[in-house]
Amino acid sequence: MNYYSTKNKNLKSTFRNAVIQGLPEDNGLFMPEKIPVLPSGYFSDIQEKTIQQVAFDVLQAFVGDEISSDKLQEIIDKTYSFPFPLVNINDNIFTLELFHGASYAFKDVGATFLALCLDEFYKDSNEKCTILVATSGDTGGAVAAAFSKTKNVEVVILYPSGKVSELQEKQLTTFEKNVTALEIEGDFDDCQALVKEAFLDSELRKQKKISSANSINVARLLPQAVYYFAPFIHFGAERDISISVPSGNYGNLTAGLIAQKMGLPVKQFIAASNSNDVVPRFLASDKFEPRPTIATISNAMDVGKPSNFQRLTDLWDTEELKEKIKAYSYSDTATLKCMQKVYQKKHYLLDPHGAVGYLALQDYLSDKNDIGVVLETAHPCKFMDVVKNITNENIIPASAEPLLKKEKKSIKMKVDYKEFKAFLLS
Ligand SMILES: *Cc1c(COP(=O)(O)O)cnc(C)c1O
Repeated sequence: MNYYSTKNKNLKSTFRNAVIQGLPEDNGLFMPEKIPVLPSGYFSDIQEKTIQQVAFDVLQAFVGDEISSDKLQEIIDKTYSFPFPLVNINDNIFTLELFHGASYAFKDVGATFLALCLDEFYKDSNEKCTILVATSGDTGGAVAAAFSKTKNVEVVILYPSGKVSELQEKQLTTFEKNVTALEIEGDFDDCQALVKEAFLDSELRKQKKISSANSINVARLLPQAVYYFAPFIHFGAERDISISVPSGNYGNLTAGLIAQKMGLPVKQFIAASNSNDVVPRFLASDKFEPRPTIATISNAMDVGKPSNFQRLTDLWDTEELKEKIKAYSYSDTATLKCMQKVYQKKHYLLDPHGAVGYLALQDYLSDKNDIGVVLETAHPCKFMDVVKNITNENIIPASAEPLLKKEKKSIKMKVDYKEFKAFLLS
């Protein structure tokens, strides 16, 4: 399969190159040349399929023959190695829990697939590739866990000292070998600025192969299309199923819309955002007006200029997007109230991102009988600062206990590009 740039359809790339390069030179985003449609009978026996089988059928269409079938199956088995349970909360409302992976967030799926694809592509190269990531907490954990499984790629993670939760810090700092955590004495913007400077440093890049595990990489985007099939594996393809997606950069929702374009009969997509509501405002007014980011309690969705918007407008025009996406936004107050109410009435603890999704689903379903599914994008234990307002119960999963006991290994560093560069070249 070939990929083009959203800024120039004539700029063609292989899957391999799109994954290695991450972004096209013209600063657009890579897109698959076509979205393959699954055979019409595919859904009649969907309930007999496993998520790994679906993953193979979906992803092979995008990878083509650039990774052998056996290798792709192996990568898929490692990527979808944890369950995606559908849990009933309330009458016809379900959550699809995407947080049973290594870092307790849905980003484990995309990060693992990307890491294993890169590992495969660098297998025969005598150059080692180093991935640089700046994280405010959530992405870094998924990337660290994913790349701890690779042989030919190493990763350097920059995180702001004292500004990530205890669990998040352990997820960044307890890997051996090829995952290094730099604890930067600054904030997230400082971390990001250091990484940016490294990518712009041609002298460094002559001496060291560096790359990014950015969320706009196609190998992070496409594997997210797969778990949208899970509710249909459960209920069959005959039921009206609508899906609410807590959204920030809109990668997750874009992947869902791609699954639908492949034939998955999702009745309606619902985009749920916090106060960073540029997409809901666009769908109401036809104007895309990015704004500075507003800090909220669902901070993984604090995005003022969602990058995947370019992909949505590449595939559909404004009128089509208005039909395909019903969008809602909620304040922190409403989000907290929702977490409280669902916990008290149903004894289900939503995380702040899932709660935004739950609110949107509830509003959308107010006059409908569809089965409603909200994607639970992270385990609530990642957001203890918020959760402690709801319950004092110990909600840390047993599987995280060994991690919390592990010793933190980080390298402390000032916000100093010279020092960072010397470290990379050492
Ligand atoms: C990243 C993230 C989101 C937003 O996903 P996008 O693909 O950027 O829209 C939502 N919830 C959690 C917990 C996240 O980590």
